[in-house]
Amino acid sequence: MCGIVACLTKDRDKPTLSIGIDALTRLEYRGYDSAGAAFRTASNTIICKKAIGKILNLQKELEEYDQTALTPLILHTRWATHGTVTTSNAHPLSDCSGNFYIAHNGIVENYTSLKKQLQEEGHVFLSETDTEVIAHLIEKYFINNLEDAVRKALEQVVGTYGIAVISTYEPDKIVAASLSSPLLIGLGEDIIFVASDLSAIAPYIQKVVYLDDREVAVIEPNGYTIIREKKPQEVQWSGSAHDKGNYPHYMLQEIMEQPSTLEETMRGRLDLQEGSAKLGGLISVAVRLSRVNNVQLVGCGTAYHACLFGEYLLEEHACISSKSEVSSEFRYRKRALSKDTALIAVSQSGETADTLAAIKDAVSNNILALGITNSIGSTQTRITDAGVYTRSGTEIGVAATKTFTSQLVSLVLLALLLGRQRKLTLPEGQTIVNELLRIPNLVRHTLLCTDRVLEIAKKYENCENFFFLGRKYNYPIAKEGALKLKEISYVHAEGSYGGELKHGELALVSEHFPSICIVPKDSVYDKMVSNIEEIKTRNGTVIAITTEGNTELKSIADDVIYIPETLEILYPILSIIPLQLFAYHFANLRGCDIDKPRNLAKSVTVE
Ligand code: GLU
Repeated sequence: MCGIVACLTKDRDKPTLSIGIDALTRLEYRGYDSAGAAFRTASNTIICKKAIGKILNLQKELEEYDQTALTPLILHTRWATHGTVTTSNAHPLSDCSGNFYIAHNGIVENYTSLKKQLQEEGHVFLSETDTEVIAHLIEKYFINNLEDAVRKALEQVVGTYGIAVISTYEPDKIVAASLSSPLLIGLGEDIIFVASDLSAIAPYIQKVVYLDDREVAVIEPNGYTIIREKKPQEVQWSGSAHDKGNYPHYMLQEIMEQPSTLEETMRGRLDLQEGSAKLGGLISVAVRLSRVNNVQLVGCGTAYHACLFGEYLLEEHACISSKSEVSSEFRYRKRALSKDTALIAVSQSGETADTLAAIKDAVSNNILALGITNSIGSTQTRITDAGVYTRSGTEIGVAATKTFTSQLVSLVLLALLLGRQRKLTLPEGQTIVNELLRIPNLVRHTLLCTDRVLEIAKKYENCENFFFLGRKYNYPIAKEGALKLKEISYVHAEGSYGGELKHGELALVSEHFPSICIVPKDSVYDKMVSNIEEIKTRNGTVIAITTEGNTELKSIADDVIYIPETLEILYPILSIIPLQLFAYHFANLRGCDIDKPRNLAKSVTVE
């Protein structure tokens, strides 16, 4: 979701525009609807070009400009929150005079009142965005010093921001600031960047400094200054993973990668002898962890489904009372969390705005805050007390797949660790560890169902509604399966509890409204079979996902997909695979833009 790249150089031969466009393109996967660039010319005016749609369209707008040393340069990909998707609403945006240009990630929540006041003072607005108020506030407060004006402008702003600002008055300067929206300064050879994501500029830099909330940074050709200056950290970057190989879509590649991503999630972390897990990221809080009696899991979207799984798991295997809630609800509710609670925040990007707010709230109440994320150096890793990296590698497809299964496995590792500190016995722990060791191969085996799933997707290609049903550990998987289908194929899907259907939703069931039932041979198998019978009795169509060797469902369900046998708690890692493949093939058959579904963004950095 939305991206900022800005750069400044004193090397007149640096191809800043092509570097900037390349960096912006590395943020494409996050989702955006328009893009823009602003830079200073030799005659000290600022040129701003924008285009809706792909970055390629912006590149066309910029063709006529010299490719070297356009400096300073700011670029932005917008994911509209306020104002429709138009060229005039795309960033960068300027003040009345065209002397200040700003790229902004985030939301100015009080923009209506600020805009009204500025208009009364004579400012003329050219866009419908919330962002434009910041440009006019900077114009209003500017007296010979850009950073002072930016600071004064931001004092008026309620909301979130990561911004990069340039001005004709101070031509060799970029001013950057952030609040609850990630921003970093990257130091390369003769070039300095401001970016919202390390992956955008990593190939061009050696050192990085992350901005903290409310910090304002001034970037000049010879360096940068931040109030409360911090030591740069070494960049850890193992090259670009942005290559689909022979796969038609990133999503399919990422689904197929899961045996190796799960191996990576578990590498060096399984302790067979102790029947436990070794999680280096949690060592610093070991004592506090041993005193935890309650767990509150928070996340959004797919990560929330991982939280639901974690709730069943931690309660049953770590013997800790557990609850999960979507972050955007958790934050605004009056709660009575006891001091022996640990918050576990799950976020692929580590930048999910609502989840970050939930963490800040927990930390300010002295609650132990743990994070599970895939993103090294993300804001989440910096504001939690400790955490676990999922190590899935970059995920480009907007619909999360491999990061989800890594979140599930990370939660199993956490449950092992907490469980063994409590009532989980050594043999029980060892059984789980032994089965986890088999998981990459079981996932490999499960992935062989792709052709069968394609056949089924073809059969139901014209259906516009689906139920996904599961119980206990597979209830979160039913929710996740439905979300995958909705996200990329735009059909209506509902994930529900197997036992709930008859309390209302069953009224929707018909031949043309299939139910995908997750029914492995586990402790709720018989109950799920009864639910399937209830659907079939009412002429519903059932696609069942069950354990290999179970022949019972062949005669009841319309179609059956088989997954290998495993422990009850590990079935979700296998049962989600056919659902990911179903969403993929179904959307592909319907000609949808799989890696960049409409209206969605990869990391949700607004509230
Ligand atoms: N709220 C701003 C807008 O809608 C910024 C959106 C973004 O973060 O891309 O223009």
